Amino acid sequence: MELLRPSNVDQLDEGVYIHGGTEVVPLLRDGILSGERLVDIRGLVPRGVRDATIGAGTTLAELEVDPQIPAALREACRLAASPQLRNMGSIGGNLLQATRCWYWRLKYPCRLHGGDTCFAREGEHREHAIVANDFCASAHPSDVAAALLALDARVRTSQRELPLAELYHVPDEADRNVTRLAAGEVILELELPPVEASVYLKAMDRKKWSFPQVGVAAARAGGETRIALAGVAPVPWLLESADALASGDEWATPLPRTEWKVPVARALVRRAVAALG
Ligand SMILES: Cc1cc2nc3c(=O)[nH]c(=O)nc-3n(C[C@H](O)[C@H](O)[C@H](O)COP(=O)(O)OP(=O)(O)OC[C@H]3O[C@@H](n4cnc5c(N)ncnc54)[C@H](O)[C@@H]3O)c2cc1C
Ligand code: SF4
Repeated sequence: MELLRPSNVDQLDEGVYIHGGTEVVPLLRDGILSGERLVDIRGLVPRGVRDATIGAGTTLAELEVDPQIPAALREACRLAASPQLRNMGSIGGNLLQATRCWYWRLKYPCRLHGGDTCFAREGEHREHAIVANDFCASAHPSDVAAALLALDARVRTSQRELPLAELYHVPDEADRNVTRLAAGEVILELELPPVEASVYLKAMDRKKWSFPQVGVAAARAGGETRIALAGVAPVPWLLESADALASGDEWATPLPRTEWKVPVARALVRRAVAALG
């Protein structure tokens, strides 16, 4: 494999992009990712926080202690992974991390690997999705993406600018991708609009080093509250409103062994809204 280190976007070739490598290295090792070129993008992706702009190369460890960063994003970073991983892992890489679905990681020929079966739906799915889980029942693992979605962040890439919500796509038969990033496109920066208050709450298996079973981010801006969830759908999930959960269970379509996530999500949303005051 050839290693390239471009220093600006004009020199960028297509290939496997790597920043901190906390996700790319295990996937290469396990043969899930492969290619002829490994492109180290650290030389061209901005790092650091300037007013409301976050360089996509900023690490989670830098964000969790930065007072300029809204509370929901700081907390989502602080509760993610382990200190070592947060020191290496960039926010851009976090948004693009692949599913933790064990069937996918074990290379079962499932729908996200181009096959015609979702093994999790019939098999073991305790950690899986409770919403939009028809085609693929994976649960999006990023705490950070849920926080940014509640904060209504915008993404600047090497080709365009878009709301964070549009970065993601619920996989289906026609398009099995979970993101809409084009080949050769890199995330450069994230832009945060002003926010009055925000919070991130996370249910986890252990107190540390654990992906979200359910994560709930809530943010209030201009008198409106946005709520986004991690760990409940194949993509970070924006709730239409807090009331959507209060009124009944119709918003969720859990699998037999993911039903437990429904009351957890409801309780965390209630607590998050209360915490906003
Ligand atoms: C054991 C473990 C536990 C974890 N726990 C959590 C958790 O609880 N919560 C959570 O939110 N996350 C968790 N993570 C995910 C972790 O935060 C991410 O792996 C990390 O942030 C990825 O950043 P990176 O720079 O290392 O990405 P890399 O590994 O370098 O890249 C990840 C992906 O993003 C692409 N990429 C990277 N940067 C860019 C860019 N700027 N533009 C375009 N493509 C890019 C790469 O091509 C690759 O597909 C965990 C990871 C591990 C391994
Ligand atoms: S949940 Fe998605 S990733 Fe997991 S087996 Fe089903 S199709 Fe594959």
